[in-house]
Amino acid sequence: MIKHRLRGELNRWHSLRLRTLVVMLLLCLDTGILKAQPSEFMEIAPGIYLRPGIQQNFASHNRGHIANIGFIVGKQAVAVIDTGSSYQEGLTLRRAIREITALPIQYVILTHMHPDHTLGAAAFDQDAPVYIGHAQLKDALIRRQTHYLDRLKEVLGSTTEGTRLVLPSAGVEVGRAVRLELGDRILELQAYPTAHTNNDLSVYDRNSGTLWLSDLLFVERIPVVDGSLLGWLGVIDYLDQSEAKRVVPGHGPVVTEWKASLADQRRYLDALLSGIRGIVRQNGTIEQAIEQVGQEEKDNWLLFDEYHGRNVTASFVELEWE
Ligand SMILES: [Zn+2]
Repeated sequence: MIKHRLRGELNRWHSLRLRTLVVMLLLCLDTGILKAQPSEFMEIAPGIYLRPGIQQNFASHNRGHIANIGFIVGKQAVAVIDTGSSYQEGLTLRRAIREITALPIQYVILTHMHPDHTLGAAAFDQDAPVYIGHAQLKDALIRRQTHYLDRLKEVLGSTTEGTRLVLPSAGVEVGRAVRLELGDRILELQAYPTAHTNNDLSVYDRNSGTLWLSDLLFVERIPVVDGSLLGWLGVIDYLDQSEAKRVVPGHGPVVTEWKASLADQRRYLDALLSGIRGIVRQNGTIEQAIEQVGQEEKDNWLLFDEYHGRNVTASFVELEWE
């Protein structure tokens, strides 16, 4: 008798759970939660489209789709912001644009040199756009092109066919912001002193208050120091004064409470700075720094093990002789 009652209770509980799952699934479908897959484009503000990158390391299983890439549609023209890591990814981006608008793709903005942001650019050659980046981007790309293309082939193999480097035809100097007109909206491009790299550029859309910081801000994923630790901390102080409503990082979700994300990044970089300075003061070695510095940050970031040691090494070399 008790057994029967128990079985009845369990059945009721199971069907209740099943019903709850179905309702949740329907709700997800209705509210679009399930639609926001990383491989798709979403409109994050009127006329601003983003394809969120997958929060993983560059690999064949994610086809290198790891960076946030997207485009902004104005009344008369379109501006692309970053192009992905291969010709194929660039073509996917171009197709997404053509599904939304037939307006000319007038600008392709490259936020910095890293291959997951720049190597899809050739897909836009047919549009004859102005390729624009930091004034130092061109040299940085020329210096690294062989390495970037070899590495791409090594990881993605033959699927990279058609991929080649496109050099910017226009450059933005530090301290001299450039305005791009898309008709009813103006984009402000700003170049920075050496921070994440020596060629970081941001895009600000006044209409929506959207600041596209790209890799000047990492959200959830560990920041990568490929420029200057001290420089980046300086740029963070500057960015902290911005009144942007939302920020698009280079990796990770779009953030409205973005000052908190900026503070997280500052905390990590500060940990590198104080930890390494302490070890340099005691005449410690780079190996000691890699072992000891910033380990308290391990659980706060994706891909910590893959990039933290590299960050310590790069920052040690920078701080060793200060
Ligand atoms: Zn980067």
